[in-house]
Amino acid sequence: MTEHVADPGGTADLDRRLADALERLGHGMRSLAQRSARAHGLTPLQQQAVLALSRPSGARKEVAALAAEFDVTTPTMSDAVTALERKGLVSRSPGLDGRRRVLSLTEEGEAVAGELAPWDGPLLAALAALPVGDRAAALHTLLHVIGDLQRRGVVSVARMCTTCRFFGRDEHTDPAAPHHCHLLKAPLALTDLQTDCPEHRPATASA
Ligand code: SF4
Repeated sequence: MTEHVADPGGTADLDRRLADALERLGHGMRSLAQRSARAHGLTPLQQQAVLALSRPSGARKEVAALAAEFDVTTPTMSDAVTALERKGLVSRSPGLDGRRRVLSLTEEGEAVAGELAPWDGPLLAALAALPVGDRAAALHTLLHVIGDLQRRGVVSVARMCTTCRFFGRDEHTDPAAPHHCHLLKAPLALTDLQTDCPEHRPATASA
């Protein structure tokens, strides 16, 4: 009670409580991922690889790129991909240089990816219950936090607007569309901010 009187706005430890809430969310999402992966005879990392290979994305479909995306070592991801090959879900083909191996889902892999796709349905349902303005503001905030974490070396790969060289921050006065995409040459509404943009190009360190 004393703390509330001294802090009528309730901002004491706000960042701590936000971090705690995000950590709790992370626990919940890991638990959901484990449940879904186990139901399909996969590990959570194998599930992430299958889902990543099923998405149209600017990311390279190679072991090293997947390893960077999911913050694991290349040998760890290589083991996961080898297991997926054994299960008949993934195949490798030579890349343009003849050495790199390009990964793709087999027909069975595509079918499994379709079954795995709703793994985070409870989170999507919870978000859908919120007003669109709240969701847009949350997306905006999280993309800035993730962009900052990437610049600090905590998050290794993020093909999001806030880490893109084409992103123009706060270039417009409209609070619903304050940023600009210099590739599209158009304002970016908060609801249009991208989390895995095929056109993404990493911003330089100085940016
Ligand atoms: S190119 Fe894509 S990621 Fe980059 S600012 Fe434009 S919409 Fe965002």
